[in-house]
Amino acid sequence: MKKHVAVPRLPRIRQAWLRQPALRKVLEVLNREGTTRIAGGAVRNALLGGAVTEIDLASTLTPQEVTRTAQSAGLTVHPTGLEHGTVMVVAEGTPFEVTTLRVDVETFGRRARVSFTDNWEADASRRDFTMNALYCDLNGQVHDPLGGYHDLRRHVVKFVGNPEARIEEDHLRILRFFRFTAQYGSGAPDSRGLEHCVRLRRNLKSLSAERVRQELWKLLSAPGALRMLRVMEKKGINRILLGRPLNLKAFEYMVAADRALKLAPDPLLRLHILTGSATEYRDILKLTNAEMDRLRALGPAGSVSPQLRPHERKIVLYQFGRQTYLDGVRCAWALSAVPKDPRWRRLLRFERRASLPKFPVTGADLKALGIEAGPTMGAMLKALEDWWMASGFPDDKHVILKRLEALRRLPSSASFGHKQPLKTEQGAED
Ligand code: ATP
Ligand code: MG
Repeated sequence: MKKHVAVPRLPRIRQAWLRQPALRKVLEVLNREGTTRIAGGAVRNALLGGAVTEIDLASTLTPQEVTRTAQSAGLTVHPTGLEHGTVMVVAEGTPFEVTTLRVDVETFGRRARVSFTDNWEADASRRDFTMNALYCDLNGQVHDPLGGYHDLRRHVVKFVGNPEARIEEDHLRILRFFRFTAQYGSGAPDSRGLEHCVRLRRNLKSLSAERVRQELWKLLSAPGALRMLRVMEKKGINRILLGRPLNLKAFEYMVAADRALKLAPDPLLRLHILTGSATEYRDILKLTNAEMDRLRALGPAGSVSPQLRPHERKIVLYQFGRQTYLDGVRCAWALSAVPKDPRWRRLLRFERRASLPKFPVTGADLKALGIEAGPTMGAMLKALEDWWMASGFPDDKHVILKRLEALRRLPSSASFGHKQPLKTEQGAED
């Protein structure tokens, strides 16, 4: 007798993003021929009640048919990824990637020889995880050829088909398994998927820096990052991926601090405290110049301490600037031997309240007093600025210039450019 299988009732998505005129326009136009639906991440995120930021479309039309149909309705089309069946259709200034339903006939690493199909199940079967193989139409009706909705509701990231074969087709799927489980999973990872990811983990080494970075950044920022990194640490994945055991204790503190202060997760800082030095990953993860600058600035700022008194906090904030101050405190806190010290929190809150003073004296002011431009003037400005900071950032140019007169009367051995420290006149706490 045939076994009865309960078919889950699939929901309708009723959310504002689905009503945006540009999307409706593209779907209406393309659905005059063939069938075009929203696919993948947008459907998954909408069903989870999360934000939908990127909308990809899947179509039974070939790229040529998409192009012809869209253009004849006055829409702009760019052939962005023709080799894997993707064109970009622009409506009212908003671009949508439209990919023809396809089956991967042959895969070599990241590339695949594809052939087009009009079979939704075949298209779903070449996707990585069941929760990524969902579609929805213009009316919000969800289509689920592989039962991904069931897995999504259970928060289980499950490979489509045989995990071993799917991983061998594209080794990035190992990392994507951990990344999606960290983002959308709850509890332990799917045991069958995990088993094969662990067994095939050595292949992670052969992936390109760009692809690893993209997945790693999402993994490090995910709500379940700590849980997942613990599993990955135990199973020897982190060592292969990043070449060393990770400081998960520091990661735990950083995650807790980010949550408590509602700070957006920062994958660069997270990588930094996990590995002890993110600068070493410049080539391995293709860090940008801006990221490298941030990490280099962190060096001196990494020594901030919760013992800083209020006026000292302001000096540190002024000297480092906001970004480096925040980066420094966040990292020093996570790596601290006393992370429970309530003053760490105050250091971060201080930055939100503090205004950054501007040093009111310029070279022009000194010139007006008869001082020539050059190294001596530079040293004078620097000495004045040091005194100004130590004196509580007085907002009065005349007070500062008065100090200049006192400095000019000092004997030459104590003159500018030498390492003679300036006495501070005020250390009052603000
Ligand atoms: P995100 O919100 O992080 O962008 P996403 O689901 O959109 O999540 P993408 O990496 O943008 O993820 O990929 C879009 C879709 O393409 C996925 O949902 C999945 O169906 C498919 N896909 C992407 N990469 C792969 C891969 N390596 N193997 C199989 N399918 C993939
Ligand atoms: Mg995406």
